[in-house]
Amino acid sequence: MIDSLAWDPEMESPATIAILGAGPLGVEAALYARFLGYHVSIFETRRVAHRMLDWNLRPLEEPAGKITTSLGLSALQAQDPTYIPPEPSRIFNGKQYAEEYLLPLAKTDLLFDDIHFLSPVIDISRFRVASQPAAGRFDEYPWQERCNDEFRILVEGRHRGTWVSRADCIIDCRGNRSTRVGLGPAGGLAIGELEARKEFLEHLPGDRKFDAKKYDAKSILIAGSTQEACRTLRECLEYAGHERLVWVLPPVQSDEPEFLAKARMELAQRASPSFVMIDSLGVESITPQEQGSWQVRLLKEDDSSVELQVDRIVSRTEYQETPLGPTLLAYNPQASNFLESSLQQYDLSDHSQDKHLPRARDVLTPEPGYFRLRADSLWEIGLERLRTIFAILGGRSDLDLYEIMRKQQSTGPQDA
Ligand SMILES: Cc1cc2nc3c(=O)[nH]c(=O)nc-3n(C[C@H](O)[C@H](O)[C@H](O)COP(=O)(O)OP(=O)(O)OC[C@H]3O[C@@H](n4cnc5c(N)ncnc54)[C@H](O)[C@@H]3O)c2cc1C
Repeated sequence: MIDSLAWDPEMESPATIAILGAGPLGVEAALYARFLGYHVSIFETRRVAHRMLDWNLRPLEEPAGKITTSLGLSALQAQDPTYIPPEPSRIFNGKQYAEEYLLPLAKTDLLFDDIHFLSPVIDISRFRVASQPAAGRFDEYPWQERCNDEFRILVEGRHRGTWVSRADCIIDCRGNRSTRVGLGPAGGLAIGELEARKEFLEHLPGDRKFDAKKYDAKSILIAGSTQEACRTLRECLEYAGHERLVWVLPPVQSDEPEFLAKARMELAQRASPSFVMIDSLGVESITPQEQGSWQVRLLKEDDSSVELQVDRIVSRTEYQETPLGPTLLAYNPQASNFLESSLQQYDLSDHSQDKHLPRARDVLTPEPGYFRLRADSLWEIGLERLRTIFAILGGRSDLDLYEIMRKQQSTGPQDA
């Protein structure tokens, strides 16, 4: 499949695949790779499925049948013959999904030895090929040589110290919840924000690590207009432990997303002396005060400003992807254009029926052998992209282990 790339993306097992992040997608990608006979190393900054554990008692949007896979269930059954799979219609909460599916999977013999937790990857480069393609001469660049070169992965292990790992291929499953944009106008930083960030209150009512002592009877400012901000506000109002809650959100815009317009109207009806909504272009400055409180200046649309004194600041702005490895081509805009033009050539060939092609655009990066895997909030999309990555690596557009496993499960292994 996809034969128009400047390098051959196929990778025969036993090659080594490094997986960045042990969230639901990282665990699933590792499993898929192991079933295909690849060597796998999984690196996780914190612990397996910690975001799902943080999602805590909130129900997940998709039922068990959509967020568990035939591969995962058969690995769990192979490990423990008494394991009973969940009903496909069951709605897990984040904690149950982590504790009943993801963590047991991580503990199976298939994955256990390959997971490095408390081990953030801090840099990735190539070992030998240091050159970058010259502008306008992408066709002449030694892409295949670059592809054959191993990746050098720098890991900052909490237990082992800083060490280097090697891999032939990377699947980046770091999720999209790494760095938030700033609290200032249009996502810029407010004056004093970087220094203040380490003191921001992260865990609110409903979160696994919520600490009532840091929240109850306090004056709390929540800034942001994301879905997460709206959900957080509803949960805080329900919990009602605060003295005063201030929601800082942008002025109404004509292209405002529906969820925000709805939350704005619904929450405005709950306004009271203890819950205030302030339209603002963003936070202009944050200044620490005595006894741990903060002086916050908000910029209004007419260039005037509003000063507030609060005990806690909460950021619920958008997340932005953090690039990893400045020498990699994964985030190079010119190399991305080159990749796109290669894919367009493939489009025009006889293979336009290839179902993986649209998804290949989502997972391929211009760094040969570096794939990006995100679910974009729909689990099914994540799994489709995962199949595409391994179809590309295996050079078989019909490769679908989930389907093979489902058939085996319905006919019994002896008939497959
Ligand atoms: C506040 C909050 C809101 C949520 N909102 C939703 C929602 O709206 N809808 C929904 O379905 N689910 C939600 N969830 C649940 C859940 O976070 C995601 O759906 C799910 O975790 C995404 O899976 P993932 O594997 O793509 O990414 P993640 O679970 O985010 O996994 C990525 C992993 O990569 C690790 N990582 C990052 N950088 C590095 C690095 N440099 N080196 C090594 N490891 C790294 C991270 O520690 C993390 O464990 C939410 C969770 C929380 C805590």
